[in-house]
Amino acid sequence: MPVIAASRPNPYTGSPLDRAAHRRDDPAWLGAALADPGSQWTPVWRGRSLMRSVTAGQPEAVLLGGQAAAEVRLAGGPWALLGLHEDAAPVFAVDVSAAEEPALLLPPDSGTFTDLRAVAGLLPPDDAAILAHARGLMHWRTHHRFCANCGQPVEPRSAGNSTLCPACGTQHFPRTDPAVIMLVMRGERALLGHSARFPIANMYSTLAGFVEPGESLEEAVAREVFEETGVRVGRVHYHSSQPWPFPASIMLGFFAEALTEAITLDPAEIEDARWFTRDEVRNATAHGFAVPRSDSIARRLIEDWMDSA
Ligand SMILES: [Zn+2]
Repeated sequence: MPVIAASRPNPYTGSPLDRAAHRRDDPAWLGAALADPGSQWTPVWRGRSLMRSVTAGQPEAVLLGGQAAAEVRLAGGPWALLGLHEDAAPVFAVDVSAAEEPALLLPPDSGTFTDLRAVAGLLPPDDAAILAHARGLMHWRTHHRFCANCGQPVEPRSAGNSTLCPACGTQHFPRTDPAVIMLVMRGERALLGHSARFPIANMYSTLAGFVEPGESLEEAVAREVFEETGVRVGRVHYHSSQPWPFPASIMLGFFAEALTEAITLDPAEIEDARWFTRDEVRNATAHGFAVPRSDSIARRLIEDWMDSA
């Protein structure tokens, strides 16, 4: 099986921020950063990110400073330090989901709360990476408010990047669930599937699934492919990874070599799966199907496979 290398960085990677982990537990520095009107804040409202120029088709992240930042912090939701810009300006995320009308927290014409995935292909890559970081971290903070060990409310630590249970002393860290995603190849063809869960009707994409306790990534690839399609997989090699905060995953991308060809679908997991040639995928519309969205690692796996011959 030829090794197919990643041709370019995946969307949502390449954040320009220095995570500055050593600052998270420096109370003097953090107090000054919180009081600094030059600090920048990206608000997240019910999973949506604040952007401007969305309707013009040129979306950009909105980072609030000064009084506008103070207003969103007063709303009282969880916040966290994301990191530092090159010029050392701190960047924070804050969750404002408690507000019914989040626009009322903002100065007029501050932008709109927008689904990151819907516009990710149009955002500057730096902005997409910062907003993905903020979305993932705020999702964890708003969905893990109680101690998994004893059930008591937890308190933020490390500038919002971990929590501590005051009742039992357990520390909690942000969750990122590993998922494998794989393009299965046999000769000149690749195996793509269609699921009812896909955002685009008639979209065919790479197979994917969560890694389970007690298995390697390679074993997860082989198990998921067999469960969904009945195809046996031999050699597996790594391509690239991608943060996927929709809501809490990291996608681990692989190519896999099929040992068998016959497809036996598991209807609970997948509606259809077929072997496609490069030509069919290049002309997907003419063949009556759609390929995955441009922000996905699935699309990157498919494109790098097409370019490999
Ligand atoms: Zn506890």
